[in-house]
Amino acid sequence: MSKFWSKVVHNLTPYIPGEQPKLNNLIKLNTNENPYGPSPKVLAAINQSTDDTLRLYPDPSSEALKKTIADYFKVNTHNIFLGNGSDEVLAIAFQALLKHNSPILFPDITYSFYPVYCKLYEIDFKVLPLNDLFEIELDDYLMPNGGVIFPNPNAPTGVSLTLDQIETFLKKNSDSVVIVDEAYVDFGTESVVCLTEKYNNLLVTHSFSKSRSLAGLRLGYAIGHKDLIEALVRVKDSFNSYPIDRLGLIAGVESFKDDLYFKSTCKKVIDTKIKFTEDLKSLGFSVLPSGANFVFAKHISIDGKIIVSHLREHGIVVRRFDNPERISPYVRFTIGSNEEIDTLLKTLKLILSV
Ligand SMILES: *Cc1c(COP(=O)(O)O)cnc(C)c1O
Repeated sequence: MSKFWSKVVHNLTPYIPGEQPKLNNLIKLNTNENPYGPSPKVLAAINQSTDDTLRLYPDPSSEALKKTIADYFKVNTHNIFLGNGSDEVLAIAFQALLKHNSPILFPDITYSFYPVYCKLYEIDFKVLPLNDLFEIELDDYLMPNGGVIFPNPNAPTGVSLTLDQIETFLKKNSDSVVIVDEAYVDFGTESVVCLTEKYNNLLVTHSFSKSRSLAGLRLGYAIGHKDLIEALVRVKDSFNSYPIDRLGLIAGVESFKDDLYFKSTCKKVIDTKIKFTEDLKSLGFSVLPSGANFVFAKHISIDGKIIVSHLREHGIVVRRFDNPERISPYVRFTIGSNEEIDTLLKTLKLILSV
């Protein structure tokens, strides 16, 4: 604490990201990064662009990347907003679209960054409980609100809503912005990007960090009606004119161009997840159905906390959450390569002595 701090700083409770361990021989399955590297074409493009032009500022409106993304999703460039990671896109969206008189709504168990943004921007919020199956009950959200946000699939549960469920909700909730955070959508969940044309209050956010293997580059984007996008641009241009650097722009375009690589790595992760889920079940875990690149699982007899600390002793890092109480017995396993998951399973057998 310091007398030099702005008032808002005293009240902040910053987000705590998953550990990025300094030891490099660990198996890292705690922050949902992709086990497969970015496309070789992305790396080649970054290498080729690493030259004298880095002395110049990048294009402030990132036109080339916006055009690439717009073409991919068959929308216009005025429907795309780019940010330095989707966390930045979300932060800007909270300020630009979710600050009204009524509280915003999100699930009690969800991405823990949402309440952090609320504190930062002094936005009232109300959390609504997931049902007994850890599903989001969108009917509960039908009340006057300043906006609604949820990830699909949800984090850290991995549980997905269908496009139909979301559309049914959008039909009934037309007076406030609905943000669907699709950070993990490419690992087996239906995207609602196709609904952005029909519902002018729907904003969908995507990340390059998980399915596009570029967490280190910090790229994310939003898709929505041009009026929503304009609000985001107004905030961005009052804050940072160049959130996307020259190398990020080039890499982002190449990532979308190499769709075959993108699809094949997503499929590998999904295939590993399906097999790992069965293996976990045979070890006595109950596993929530996952539309993401991680699974959320609870053992019948051994508490999550014990499993996590034993795995750590064996050099495997996974993630667990203390709050709320209801998820404290669970462990979140990021889907790694087949070799990593094999080692994880062997170690789990050892720990559970089966
Ligand atoms: C990882 C994640 C993000 C942020 O991704 P970045 O693009 O790396 O900032 C957003 N939402 C959820 C639910 C996530 O898990």
